[in-house]
Amino acid sequence: MASQEIEALASALARLPGLGPRSARRAVLWLVKNREQALPALLTALGAVQDTLVECDTCGNVDTRNPCGICSDPRRDQKSLCVVEDVADLWALDRSRLFQGRYHVLGGKLSALDGVRPDDLNIASLLGRVEEGGIDEVVLAMNATLEGQTTAHYLAERLEKFPLRITQLAHGLPVGGELDYLDEGTLAQALRARRPVG
Ligand SMILES: [Zn+2]
Repeated sequence: MASQEIEALASALARLPGLGPRSARRAVLWLVKNREQALPALLTALGAVQDTLVECDTCGNVDTRNPCGICSDPRRDQKSLCVVEDVADLWALDRSRLFQGRYHVLGGKLSALDGVRPDDLNIASLLGRVEEGGIDEVVLAMNATLEGQTTAHYLAERLEKFPLRITQLAHGLPVGGELDYLDEGTLAQALRARRPVG
């Protein structure tokens, strides 16, 4: 029977995605064994993140500055905007390094089941960015799930009136596939072969 403190650490870690109680215990055990080297670095990293994390007012990315590193990077293509459901998708796409433009995070997807309506997502701010002008292409990079595709169709309709090329990721995406779980090659292929919405 572990002490209350160790139990608390294990249950906090167990809540992390992909861990679960068993892996969390192994992580705790590893931390205990390697406390001299591992704990100070972990504590410093966690503290720094807690102190500095902000949501980008422009795109919804999470970074340590606002506007985020992507929005404030002058080398990024200002004419190209990639719309994603979540920050995890933004990070996954950006790891592929194929997309040189900027992003817009919706903060979820439309869902009748969960009662998520257009007003619940960052759609007004997306339309605002497009309305400001200077954007030639909007890539709808929703997940290949029913709700993701419903969201993409809805957005395509709302964006129709603007002089834009509206594209979406190619059908190379596995049905039901979540961007964050795809390997970078598959993701890069889907992005490279993106096609007009229609
Ligand atoms: Zn940003």
